[in-house]
Amino acid sequence: MIRTGEYIKDIFTMAVGTAVQARGWVKTRRDSKGVIFIQLNDGSCFKDLQAVVEQGAIPEETMRQIGTGACLKISGELVASLGAGQSVELKVRDILIYGPADPTTYPLQPKRHSMEFLREIAHLRPRSNTFGAVFRVRNAVCYAIHKFFQERGFLYVHTPIITASDAEGAGAMFGVTTLDLMNLPRTENGGINFAEDFFGRPSYLTVSGQLEGEIFASAFTNIYTFGPTFRAENSNTPRHLAEFWMIEPEMSFCDLDDNRRVAEEFLKYIIAHVVDTCLPDLEFFNKWVDDTVLETITHVAESDFQHVTYTEAIEVLLKADKSWEFPVAWGIDMQSEHERYLTEVVFKRPVVVTDYPKEIKAFYMRLNDDGKTVRAMDVLAPRIGEIIGGSQREERHDVLLEKIRAQHLPEEAYWWYLDLRKYGSAPHAGFGLGLERMVMYLTGMKNIRDVIPFPRTPGSAEF
Ligand code: ATP
Ligand code: MN
Repeated sequence: MIRTGEYIKDIFTMAVGTAVQARGWVKTRRDSKGVIFIQLNDGSCFKDLQAVVEQGAIPEETMRQIGTGACLKISGELVASLGAGQSVELKVRDILIYGPADPTTYPLQPKRHSMEFLREIAHLRPRSNTFGAVFRVRNAVCYAIHKFFQERGFLYVHTPIITASDAEGAGAMFGVTTLDLMNLPRTENGGINFAEDFFGRPSYLTVSGQLEGEIFASAFTNIYTFGPTFRAENSNTPRHLAEFWMIEPEMSFCDLDDNRRVAEEFLKYIIAHVVDTCLPDLEFFNKWVDDTVLETITHVAESDFQHVTYTEAIEVLLKADKSWEFPVAWGIDMQSEHERYLTEVVFKRPVVVTDYPKEIKAFYMRLNDDGKTVRAMDVLAPRIGEIIGGSQREERHDVLLEKIRAQHLPEEAYWWYLDLRKYGSAPHAGFGLGLERMVMYLTGMKNIRDVIPFPRTPGSAEF
């Protein structure tokens, strides 16, 4: 029986003797005495299918055009493999060349390339071992995210990407305009007349879907957003992108303790799913990228996250026998070095820090009775630092209004957000997980640019 259109991962499960057609791209070609070995990969799994071309099986003219990078359909019969590392290989009967590739100029050579170089060939890097594994893991993470929330009755909501309020205060924003930058309409006092702009006012790319998410949580109880998020922070760090993907659940009738538990269960669920579906990819990362990947993952799945308050965390940092680049004192916004010290050195597992000083957190976080701290939480993970940021939201109208005024925010812009506190306000909480930070955590990849298909960072938007 001839089968068509199989994925290579399915071919590996078929019995010896099955006739198959495999399609994919050549990873390597090796010529040996009387036989040629072709490693074929279609992205469906880590392992390449080995195709064996015996002398005379395929015309010379065809074989000449087959090198690394070529796209082929190979027909043949599955035979037991003599080589180590695979159970079956493909004994070749026929090869169709969809697209040849000149192996002497093909940029993705079968050798170790630097991550920097691979970023320059982002149109080809998905075909490499490393990026094949990265994007399969990323895909599995996304599936697990939807599965987790859907199984728990959360409504998936699409919050807007273009927003007219620079309200969230989560970071610097990209402007969106159709005004002619060479010839800006002016107001009487020389400012820009945004009344003439597309939306009739300044507008931006969203930094978070949370505020709109709260609207939906006030109708559907539990919701989540999962979409692109933009921050114009000019920080060239290995943990920040200008365009990234964020998952933001928002839950009614939920306080900070519930929020913390959901976050922990959520992260463990994603990990379990990825271990379940992408083990060969994880093993690759463990071998070639970071030899602590598998250990960390199993450890996290088995241990409870550590919970400390911000005040306790600062005490721990003050006692640390260590010199800091950024000095420690109650009230500071913890830097990556502090976060990583807590999770990597002190507690050696993910840490949830709660109850931060109100001055360093957003206006919408619920004020504690001490009047000094708010019901914020950050989840810190080894190697990454902050992976989740969240809070219980301020549901009391007057307290919220007072905070908006104290922070000199434009009260009018928040009319609908305040309305939610006037009509059927409920205690509620939520958090944001950066998808790319999660993928970094699972793969051990060191730079966030290498866990998103086409990274957007200061000065770089090729592809
Ligand atoms: P950080 O302190 O690391 O810059 P943040 O406090 O600005 O993050 P939040 O506003 O709490 O981040 O956003 C929620 C989550 O989104 C973060 O925990 C992180 O996982 C992710 N995140 C935030 N900014 C970025 C970015 N520029 N690139 C990638 N992920 C990000
Ligand atoms: Mn944060």
